[in-house]
Amino acid sequence: MQKIEHIGIAVNNLEEAEKRFAQLLNTVSYKREVVESEGVITSFFKIGESKIELLAATKPDSPIQKFIDKKGEGIHHIAFEVFDIEQKLRELKTQGFRLINEKPKDGADNKKIAFIHPKSTGGILVEICQEKK
Ligand code: ZN
Repeated sequence: MQKIEHIGIAVNNLEEAEKRFAQLLNTVSYKREVVESEGVITSFFKIGESKIELLAATKPDSPIQKFIDKKGEGIHHIAFEVFDIEQKLRELKTQGFRLINEKPKDGADNKKIAFIHPKSTGGILVEICQEKK
């Protein structure tokens, strides 16, 4: 893993959360992006080497909405950047990690992404991501 690329935070109201985080981080969101396949709208803040990714549901059956219904708003996942996501997924599988995505899929912010199941990481949803060329 290269670095913490971003921390994903599930929010109910994207506008309100953007205002709150703009104050907290003293910087404004640099982009919003809808990921249709995930039923999510994201908003990104750059903070040093890393980013904060706010996640709000765009439909009632969105995984983000299910998360909020179950656990409330808060940290949803931690994303680590890798150079070669396919190789990293093979490695993780060999090491016994349970993969939610066996193959990378398209994520927000020009990334290929895959998730590792929280059951194999002590309760933390882990995303690994690679910048698309
Ligand atoms: Zn993410």
